[in-house]
Amino acid sequence: MNSFVRATVLQTSSPEHLDVKRDVLIEVSEGIIRRIDPASSRRELLSDKSVRVTSLSEGMYLLPGFIDCHVHAPQWPQLGIGLDLPLERWLYDYTFPLESKFENIDYANAVWSEMVPALLGEGTTTAVYFSSIHHEATLALAKTCLRFGQRSFIGRVAMDSPEGTPEYYRDVSASEGISLSRESIGQIRSLDAGRGLISPIITPRFTPACTDTLLNGLGELAMETGVLIQTHCSESDWQHQYALDRFGVSDTQALKQFNLLQKNSVLAHCNHTSVNDWEMMCAIGAGVAHCPLSNAYFAGGVFSARRAITHGLAVGLGTDISGGSDSSVLAQCHNALTASRYLESGVDVKKNSQDRGVPNSRLDVVTAFWMATLGGANLLGLPVGQLEVGKPFDAIAVRDLGAGFESAKDDALNHELQTIERILRRSRNAQITDVWVAGNRVSGIKESN
Ligand SMILES: [Zn+2]
Repeated sequence: MNSFVRATVLQTSSPEHLDVKRDVLIEVSEGIIRRIDPASSRRELLSDKSVRVTSLSEGMYLLPGFIDCHVHAPQWPQLGIGLDLPLERWLYDYTFPLESKFENIDYANAVWSEMVPALLGEGTTTAVYFSSIHHEATLALAKTCLRFGQRSFIGRVAMDSPEGTPEYYRDVSASEGISLSRESIGQIRSLDAGRGLISPIITPRFTPACTDTLLNGLGELAMETGVLIQTHCSESDWQHQYALDRFGVSDTQALKQFNLLQKNSVLAHCNHTSVNDWEMMCAIGAGVAHCPLSNAYFAGGVFSARRAITHGLAVGLGTDISGGSDSSVLAQCHNALTASRYLESGVDVKKNSQDRGVPNSRLDVVTAFWMATLGGANLLGLPVGQLEVGKPFDAIAVRDLGAGFESAKDDALNHELQTIERILRRSRNAQITDVWVAGNRVSGIKESN
C-alpha cells in the first residue's frame, strides 16, 4: 500500500547547494519514493478521507536521514567516559577489555538492543559499524539492525598482530581472521536476503593491529566478494608515524598495497593524510569518515574537511562512538563547524593572528549538512541522503525551534538557509519526532516479540 508524507523538504544536492522543496506530497511504496508533487497539485487525493497522509505541522521540516559513517558498536557501554588517555593507551586500558566482553552473546544482545533504537531515535538511518572480533556477536548485531529496521554496514573486526593487540582479544591467526570474516560476510548477506538493508563490510581494525598476512588476505577477500572495506587511517601522530616506520610509506599507500583501498572504502579520520594520499583516494573512489569530536581527543589536529571536499574527496561524518563522546550525527555537524573555525583562526593567542590558523578551512552549514547526508551516501555508494524519486525513503522529521520569530534578514532568500542553520546548531534529539528507513517508521517502536 502506498503511503504519503506532506512536508517541506530541506536537503543538499552538492556541498554548496541547499535544495528546498516547499509543501510537497511524497508518495512511497515498497520503501521507495515514487512521486514528489507540489501538494497543491494533489488536492483531490488530500481531500480523500480514505487516504492516510502524514502531514508535518507548522515549523517542522523533512530532512534526509543522517548517515553515521563510523561507529564502534561494542564501545556503546563506555560512551562519554575514558577519554583521558592517548589513543594507544585508551585502547589497552579501556577499549580492548570492553570489546572482549562481547564473547558473551547475552551481553552483546543487551547492548545492541539498547544502542540500535537509540541511534535511530537520533535520526541515524544508516550506520557503518565496527563490531567486535566475535562472529556470534557480529551476527547478532546484524539481526538487531534488521529487527529495528536500521540500514547498516556491519563489520566483524579482524586483528591478529601480537604487537598491536592484547593476547585475550585478537584473532588466533591471520587465517582464522580471514575465514571468520568470510563466514560473517556470507551470513550477513543471507540474513539480508536481498532486502538491501544490511550489508557486510570488511574491517581490519587498523594497520598496527594486523599482520601483513591478514591485511593481504582481507584485500583478496574484498576483491573476491566485492564487499566494501572500512578501517582507520592516519588518525594520530602515533598511527601516522607507525605506518611510515613499518611500511616506509603513508598509511593510505600501505592500505592500497594490500588492496584495502578500493571504491567506496571508508577511511576513518585521515587527519595526517597528505594531498598525495587524497589524490590516490580520489582516483580510486575511496573517502573519509570525518569524526570531528573524536579527533579533538585523539588526533592531535583538525582534519581539513573543507580542503578535502574542495579537492573532490567523498567525505561523510562519523560519531566514532566511543572515541567521540556524542552519538548524534546532528552534534557532529555542529562539531565539524566548530572544529573548522578553530582550524581557520588557530587557537594559540600568543601567536600573531595572521600566523595562527590555516586559511580557507571553514565549513559552512550547508556543507556540514551535506556531509551528514549526501556526502556520506556518496562515500558508501548508497542511493540515500536525498529525497528524490526512485530513492529509498530514509527521512527524519525535525522541529525548528526558532520558527516562531522572524529574524532581521528573514526574507524568502534567507528563510530556509536560516532554518537549516538553526536546525543544525540548535536541535537536539527531542526535536527529531519521526524517523523512517525504507518507508518504515522506525523511531520509537519497541521490540515486538
Ligand atoms: Zn574508530
